[in-house]
Amino acid sequence: MTIKNVIASAPGRVNLIGEHTDYNGGYVLPMAIPQRTTVSLKILAGKQVRLRSRNMPEPAAAFNYELGCEARAGSWGDYIQGVTRLLAGEGHALQGFEAHISSDIPVGSGLSSSAALEVSTMRALREAFGLALDDLTIARLGQRVENEFVGAHVGIMDQMASSLANNSEALFIDTLDLSYKSVRLPDDVDLVVVNSGVSHSNSNGDYNTRRSECEQACKILGVKLLREIAYGELSRIEALPEPLSRRARHVVTENERVLQAVHAISKGDLQGLGKLFYQSHQSMRDDYAVSVPEIDLLVELAMAEPGVYGARLTGGGFGGSIVLLARLGAGARIAEKIADAYAKKVPYKPTILVKGKGELNATESH
Ligand code: ADP
Ligand code: MG
Repeated sequence: MTIKNVIASAPGRVNLIGEHTDYNGGYVLPMAIPQRTTVSLKILAGKQVRLRSRNMPEPAAAFNYELGCEARAGSWGDYIQGVTRLLAGEGHALQGFEAHISSDIPVGSGLSSSAALEVSTMRALREAFGLALDDLTIARLGQRVENEFVGAHVGIMDQMASSLANNSEALFIDTLDLSYKSVRLPDDVDLVVVNSGVSHSNSNGDYNTRRSECEQACKILGVKLLREIAYGELSRIEALPEPLSRRARHVVTENERVLQAVHAISKGDLQGLGKLFYQSHQSMRDDYAVSVPEIDLLVELAMAEPGVYGARLTGGGFGGSIVLLARLGAGARIAEKIADAYAKKVPYKPTILVKGKGELNATESH
């Protein structure tokens, strides 16, 4: 059965800890944020697909194509073309449609606007055409869209977070078998997310380089995934040439930090959790080399605030956002203070996306 008009949406995500571990078969701990991408879809007769995004400047805001003729164009429309191509390949019957997209997730800021676009589109198509798709399948297809159609060799975290997480609990995912469980943050903490204004939109190349460095490290070590190297076997990676040794050290230690973070959360140990955030940032900056000076500045400004337990770059890096943990009730004030100090030092405009754990209040631009 088909329905004529539908509206569907999906959230962005903030990763608390576990960065660049997902494509290495490791652990991640993302959480949905209140910002979402919304797709309004109208079914059309025939095979034409007409897309418009409110988030893209003219003339790039429009993208049209025909079902069955999907071809990579190097534009945002590729995310939707990838969706329809893969759905058809899986035997789902589609028809032409018009879709209007709008989002309050900043694009290219490490908060996963791309997964939100894929997931919200698939949710809209599921409803419009009565497709038999469960949420985990949608996440897996979204990852394949990026890998096989867009050419971004991302792991599964972003799509699982957008499709399965909510913004009151974190989602602990073991990306080796895709098992997951909800982890509730302690009540007495404020979660803060600040976007640096430095976009990583052209970073697919850097991201893919890191991924291939991990693959090279695996080849030399004789393993399929870096997940197979336990924290207790760190000495094995010392034999790797640089920079592979540092890259592998980040992945192996980051996996351990995710497990320790889940433990710290279960004990309500916010000091311990914050320390893991700082260690994760250091590892991303020094070993994995995915931070930028503006993000380091935000983390340093956070570190200087007495009410902050920990802060780190969140998302794939090369720009993007930071996530920090602050004393309950102090998050909003600290977020404003850090954003002000940052804006005085660099030519980028920071945006506070989340400034308190409670209901994870969405806020306007700073
Ligand atoms: P992130 O997922 O961290 O925001 P990516 O580089 O993975 O960054 O994805 C950003 C890309 O996703 C954009 O360059 C654009 O092609 C596409 N995109 C995301 N959100 C939208 C949107 N609302 N409208 C159009 N394209 C979007
Ligand atoms: Mg993305």
